[in-house]
Amino acid sequence: MQIKVFTLFPDIFPGFLQYSLTGRAMHEGKWSLDTVNIRDYALDKYGSVDDTPCGGGAGMIMRADVLGRAIKAEYKGGRIIYMSPRGKPLTQSKVRELSKEDTLTIVCGRFEGIDERVLEAFSIEEISIGDYILTGGEQAALILLDSVIRVLPGVLGNQASLENESFENLLLEHPQYTRPIDWEGHKVPDILLSGHHQNIADWQLEQSIEITKARRPDLYQKYLDSKKV
Ligand code: SAH
Repeated sequence: MQIKVFTLFPDIFPGFLQYSLTGRAMHEGKWSLDTVNIRDYALDKYGSVDDTPCGGGAGMIMRADVLGRAIKAEYKGGRIIYMSPRGKPLTQSKVRELSKEDTLTIVCGRFEGIDERVLEAFSIEEISIGDYILTGGEQAALILLDSVIRVLPGVLGNQASLENESFENLLLEHPQYTRPIDWEGHKVPDILLSGHHQNIADWQLEQSIEITKARRPDLYQKYLDSKKV
């Protein structure tokens, strides 16, 4: 997967993506990332990229002409996304969908965001990582990319470990344990030591259902609805 990121802070990338599983996948050539410094396309000698909002209001907005020039010069087609609190929520199914693309282009906002006309002119899709406001799209882009790279073929050693994870089947994950079997008097549940695969799977599903019901009634309702069809 080839990733291109439009940003005012290119040094933020690849950030934590260079570590651990995503870092190994980068060194193996499973993904690569280029940045475009939006400021390189500024039109004045001060490198201005933002201006006050039309109609008044607080903060600054990234200018359409500067960002537009950057995108025209450097965007080579394919899926283009603006990280935005107004976007469609990033979910595991959206992550799966994005992981099928050969290229991803991501635009990161700063200040109060970007001029609406740029979104329209390039048919940019907006994606949000949650109902809270960050200072910049770079943080959100790294999170989106981490979740997408993680599900690219061959990135996780054990593909099976993807299947039972939280959200993959509309349920949160059941509790997990490892050694020692007895930790300061706290024991691993007997069932997990029984060696009886079906009973273990039944117990884990039951736990997943209970936890989802208690913590995420919205998700639990979706799970129930999915069982009806
Ligand atoms: N005024 C905007 C928020 C601007 S925050 C509004 O009310 O919607 C500055 C930048 O951070 C945005 O341009 C966006 O790129 C990024 N950002 C902030 N919160 C985000 C979120 N929850 N998901 C994705 N990107 C976000």
